[in-house]
Amino acid sequence: MASTFQFSQQQWLVSFFQHLSNPAFILLDDSAHQLQLVSANPAFLQLLPEPVSLPASLADIHLPSDWAHDLKKQLADLAEGCSCTLQLKIRQHEFERWFVLSLQLRIIEQQRLYFALLTDITQWQQECRQLQQKLSDIERLKNRIREQAIRDPLTNLFNRRFLNEFMERELALARRNQKPLSLVMLDLDHFKQLNDQFGHQTGDQIIELVARHLLRQSRRSDILFRYGGEEFLILLPNTTEVQAGHLAESWRAQIEQSQIFAAEQPLTVTISAGVACYPEHGTTAFNLIQAADQALYQAKAAGRNRVITF
Ligand code: GH3
Ligand code: MG
Ligand code: MG
Repeated sequence: MASTFQFSQQQWLVSFFQHLSNPAFILLDDSAHQLQLVSANPAFLQLLPEPVSLPASLADIHLPSDWAHDLKKQLADLAEGCSCTLQLKIRQHEFERWFVLSLQLRIIEQQRLYFALLTDITQWQQECRQLQQKLSDIERLKNRIREQAIRDPLTNLFNRRFLNEFMERELALARRNQKPLSLVMLDLDHFKQLNDQFGHQTGDQIIELVARHLLRQSRRSDILFRYGGEEFLILLPNTTEVQAGHLAESWRAQIEQSQIFAAEQPLTVTISAGVACYPEHGTTAFNLIQAADQALYQAKAAGRNRVITF
């Protein structure tokens, strides 16, 4: 008796919603193997790309194929009389529309029926997407500006401004972990002559090519900076002065041997290098850079194309 009363109530509700032009309404039957669309009002049917005759399988109404399956799973634990809210996407030709689906389960004569009202949230979804797009554009722009602020445009190495910030961090790490931190200051030999002979543009090209050489030869943990015009500084975390000296020597030899092709000819370019190491030669960024600079000065004074450790 009670179920007859409930059923007539359901029928009354179905007929009530069927005559409503808004909102869209559907009635789903979950009793069978697959969810079936048993009833819908004109507001819902107008959303569909093609007319359907009811009852219809959800596959007939252009729901994403996995959705019907997911929905059945999601609704499996819903108790009678309880409601839940889900998002639903219906594809209409090349457009897609998004809905919030408010569902309530009724069990009538062992039939699991879901009454569902649909609220169109397509515009809100589109605005959300546009906003997300804008946010990721802003994030990308922020990263680009940050990159530009810390990199040298000619060589794409980090610039001197970033060195000051970065070295403090590396020094703090070395101090905390009681590890050495080496730095190598490099300067191209007689660069003024190259500039005078081949012009400033070729000079730029040489600086760029030397930077590429150094990048290729250095280890992944080494951090390269363009310190000045034709001067580079390389930070070598967790590297002793002896190891740093060997590395600097190998870089020097490589650059001397591999001819730099600029001004349409192979040019022999040499570098001098000064090495300093934390904690032996200094405990602050200023002292360590000064020590590496002094060692570099000694390398120049001793005839260039060599490495000297402070
Ligand atoms: P050395 O270091 O062996 O003592 O001699 P050098 O001739 O290389 O020494 P110095 O430091 O006196 O000269 C460096 C020259 O590099 C001076 C400047 O004209 C040139 N220079 C500095 N920055 C740039 C740059 O960005 N591009 C070019 N092409 N030249 C630069
Ligand atoms: Mg020089
Ligand atoms: Mg110089």
